[in-house]
Amino acid sequence: PGVLIERIDGDVTAIAKTFSHFAVDVLSGVLLLLGIFVIMFFESLVAGWVVLIFALVVAGVLIGTRSFAVAASEDERGVSAQLYGFIEERLAAVDDIRANGAGPFVMRRFTAVMRRWFHRGRRAWLKRSVIWVASIGLFSLGSLVALGTGAFLVFGDVITIGTAYLILNYMNKLEQPIEQITNQMQELQKAAAGLSRLRTLFSKVPLVDRSGTRILPSGALSIELDAVTFAYDEAAAVLEDVSLTFAPGRHIGLLGRTGSGKTTITKLLARFYDPDRGTVQIGGLDLRNVTPESLDARIAFVTQDVQLFDGTIRDNVTFFDPSVPDTRVQSALEEIGLGDWIDGLPEGIHTQVGSSGTGISAGQAQLVAFARAYLEDPGLIILDEPSSRVDPATEVIMANAIDRLIQGRTAVIIAHRLDTVRHVDEIVVLSNGIAVEHDERETLAADPTSAFAAMLATARDGVFIDDEEVRL
Ligand code: ATP
Ligand code: MG
Repeated sequence: PGVLIERIDGDVTAIAKTFSHFAVDVLSGVLLLLGIFVIMFFESLVAGWVVLIFALVVAGVLIGTRSFAVAASEDERGVSAQLYGFIEERLAAVDDIRANGAGPFVMRRFTAVMRRWFHRGRRAWLKRSVIWVASIGLFSLGSLVALGTGAFLVFGDVITIGTAYLILNYMNKLEQPIEQITNQMQELQKAAAGLSRLRTLFSKVPLVDRSGTRILPSGALSIELDAVTFAYDEAAAVLEDVSLTFAPGRHIGLLGRTGSGKTTITKLLARFYDPDRGTVQIGGLDLRNVTPESLDARIAFVTQDVQLFDGTIRDNVTFFDPSVPDTRVQSALEEIGLGDWIDGLPEGIHTQVGSSGTGISAGQAQLVAFARAYLEDPGLIILDEPSSRVDPATEVIMANAIDRLIQGRTAVIIAHRLDTVRHVDEIVVLSNGIAVEHDERETLAADPTSAFAAMLATARDGVFIDDEEVRL
């Protein structure tokens, strides 16, 4: 994310800065320089040549030394980005760090990163100072040259003392336009580099092409996975030859050990990725042919770790859409079973919650995400249940909320709790990316040789256990 932000924000700023100043700065600098040269040559040919040659030397030196500190400055920026990345990550993980007593370790790492930042920063600063001191030295030299030339010409009776003062004064005036022009040249280089980086960014092609034109049908949606094979990268396939068909309105429980590919299946259903082989059809349409808008509108996905944004509960339910009336938000939250909680808050649905979910529990966050899905009225709901456990009271609210939410819709529910799949119609058991079992829930529960029955038998406190003895 840091690199991406730097590319979008840093590069665009460099380009904007260049193009907002470039013409004006360069033009005014060139005009001022030309004016100085003309007047100098007009006053005295010798003075004119001295000033012109001096200006060329200064410009040459400045351009030559400009790049002297660039590498060191880039280095410094890189380390500074690392430092902020480090701080951000540790702040986000502060609970984990405390709970594991990792505070001193983190502080030691922090010191190391800070030390690197300090050393690189000092080096870059020193190099920049060399350029700065050199340019001050050059212009002091310029003053000496102007004084010498002036004195020589005055004593030779070529010019008056007033003209000598003019030469000195204009010599000092050279500094600003020359710096202005060389600065702009440097900015132009940076902008050119930024432009080419941005061009690479714009030419990135999404993994999933979004040119489909078909619209998903209304009502509950059917699902058909046909010989789906999928891998995230070159590594081994995460899903292998998975074929599953579900009629519209069915409720499916997806079970399997951690890492067996449950979330991956749901990501294919929501078309975060396309399968490497095989097809995913929803509502009878290959997802590759469906418009992205239709996918967003008709498929709702509640993920394993719900993200809340800095804003009110209302904002979080509507995704900051002001056109949704408050009453609809309120009733969605009530349907989900959060009515009492909302009524107990001093500002109701306008209560602020933080980006990391400050003032809201994991269970409540999950329920707020249910309300998001509820507002949309989708034809397919995908629920990826968080594997962390919630208290029994919230569990009941959650189970009721899920029942409400999936009423009259197709639903794929990844469950870690027995209670969550108590009412589903069908069960799919996944093992190492292969669908090893798929049948009506009752059929599987009644078959003592099924993996599902084994899971039921070993479930403790209503939670499926990843037991070695469970044959998955
Ligand atoms: P859990 O019950 O822990 O949520 P899961 O069944 O949902 O597990 P998946 O998230 O589907 O498991 O992951 C299946 C496999 O794919 C795992 O081996 C995982 O390491 C790998 N995987 C998941 N996401 C990615 C990703 N973005 N890039 C590469 N590999 C991934
Ligand atoms: Mg998962």
